[in-house]
Amino acid sequence: MSAGAPEISVVVPVFNEEASLGELHERVSKALEGERWELVLVNDGSADRSEEILRQLAEAHPEVVAVELSRNFGQHPAVLAGFSVARGDYVVTLDADLQNPPEEIPRIVAELRDGHDAVGSVRSRRQDPWLRKQVSGLVNRVTTASLGIGMTDYGCMLRGYSRELTHEIVELAERSAFIPALATMLARNAVEIDVEHVEREEGSSKYSPLRLMRLGFDLITGFSLLPIQMVSLTGVAIAILGVGFAAFLMLRRIIVGPEVEGVFTLFAILFAFIGVLMLAVGIVGEYVGRIYAEVRRRPVYRIREVVAPGRDDPDA
Ligand code: UDP
Ligand code: MG
Repeated sequence: MSAGAPEISVVVPVFNEEASLGELHERVSKALEGERWELVLVNDGSADRSEEILRQLAEAHPEVVAVELSRNFGQHPAVLAGFSVARGDYVVTLDADLQNPPEEIPRIVAELRDGHDAVGSVRSRRQDPWLRKQVSGLVNRVTTASLGIGMTDYGCMLRGYSRELTHEIVELAERSAFIPALATMLARNAVEIDVEHVEREEGSSKYSPLRLMRLGFDLITGFSLLPIQMVSLTGVAIAILGVGFAAFLMLRRIIVGPEVEGVFTLFAILFAFIGVLMLAVGIVGEYVGRIYAEVRRRPVYRIREVVAPGRDDPDA
């Protein structure tokens, strides 16, 4: 490793964030003044002027590395791509929208220097729309309960990792790797700290409630078999109820005689079971889909170009 190699890599996924990139670079520079650092900006197939701005930043500032992906892959794949390019001993991830202030980076780095290999963060005073917070809260709770991974705030991406850990994560890269969960699972010495969170000033969130739910479902099915086991348990419970119901009907036929009314009650019960059945098929489908995506072995991300005129050895 050359003397000029950075110690700290800040990895930022960028998807249509033209309005905040300049300020992002400025504030990261200021926060890391006096350190050996690099800023890896991964353009995740933005349709706005992000690419142009990233190129300009990389041309103008030796510590900026612009990574162009071939299309939009999603936030986590973009971060993985950033990990594969980052050279620092410590890798900090951050969102491009400045909701987590870059001024917190030194605190993350301090924990990493203390020997923690994964530094998580909790948005103590989270500034997001109410509905968004409710959905995230639900995802956080369900995930913690089903995964048993001790993490308070899965959505907060202001996090730090040791280089070893990021390499392990890239190697493990699954189709829908949820990086914080993967990292906490692999980490040997993880820690969480409180961080600031502010409202998004520029652009808009790239996550609709639906997309968020999908991410949550992805997270849960990606790390546990609990949903599928719940389905089996529900199936067993319903089967027992069904047998009980049949026994009841038989007794009734002997004692009261055959029933004719109550046909619609039966329909109602049937519909409820059909609903459960469809849910079950859906959950099984989710796992089959994941297996399919995994066996196709398509790359999780594809780097089209790395623009880093400031790097002495671009291939390192
Ligand atoms: N992002 C990305 N690809 C996507 C969606 C989002 O790289 O397909 C980036 C986005 O530019 C931002 C980060 O991921 O830097 C988090 O996105 P956003 O702020 O929209 O999510 P939220 O803060 O609402 O969770
Ligand atoms: Mg955001």
